[in-house]
Amino acid sequence: MIKVFRAFFLLLVSLSAGAASAGPVSALDIMTFADSFECQDKFPHHSFCEAVQFKPWTGEEKAIVGSYLSKINDPRLAGVLKAIQQTGITKIHRVTYSARWYSNPQFRRVEFVRSAEKAFLWVNPVTNVIGVTDSFFAGTPFMDPYAKVDRKQINILHELMHDFDIATDHKYSTDDFEKAAGWDWNGKEAVVTGLDYEKAKAQFQGVLALVKEKKVAEAYALDRELGRANGFPTLYALTGQFECFAEAVAYYIFDPTAPQYYRKDLKTYLDIILSQ
Ligand SMILES: [Zn+2]
Repeated sequence: MIKVFRAFFLLLVSLSAGAASAGPVSALDIMTFADSFECQDKFPHHSFCEAVQFKPWTGEEKAIVGSYLSKINDPRLAGVLKAIQQTGITKIHRVTYSARWYSNPQFRRVEFVRSAEKAFLWVNPVTNVIGVTDSFFAGTPFMDPYAKVDRKQINILHELMHDFDIATDHKYSTDDFEKAAGWDWNGKEAVVTGLDYEKAKAQFQGVLALVKEKKVAEAYALDRELGRANGFPTLYALTGQFECFAEAVAYYIFDPTAPQYYRKDLKTYLDIILSQ
């Protein structure tokens, strides 16, 4: 009887060892759903919990987000998933709101305040928390016209790329990436070269104006159209290099037409880092 039990135990060990060496297949293999979060007097300060309002996941919500995570399974993401698994944030929390942070010199601590921003989900690099907000479930799903997947699907990979970026100390979103995407410093601000950057910034204000008018689908379509015309997935990708990195990878994976409009150097760079 004892012998049988031992053999079964060994079989289990060898199976799990095999799975570990093969690496994660999808984001669902590395992410876990967390139902609560502890705030502290010092850090993360209670104002963080008050601002974002953590709550437990429902079974239905887990199934929805889990389904999106399982579709983040492109073989090119193997290295990204492994890096997140080893040094990144692997817990996903359910929150009500988004938050901003600032340092309070009087109490020598970072404090948080609720933000009106209706982000679907966020990665907070100060507290190392990934939060999925009420907006994620309330927001209307609609297909990306080129990627043929729900924009929420792309959005989740975008946030996981921030997770990866933080886990790798921005190694892949600086230096070579800056060159490949065309980021440069003009003495005043970071700009993207090889296009009319002032014009692109003004166009992005037009996108934000549509969002304010609650024309979200139109805003998304315009953001994509004008981004593509400039050699990027969205105009939003031009708002900063970390956003550019997250957008560039997320659409490269999900939009099969991306190689047709990405600038050549960016494409070459992504092909290199996504084969590692
Ligand atoms: Zn982002």
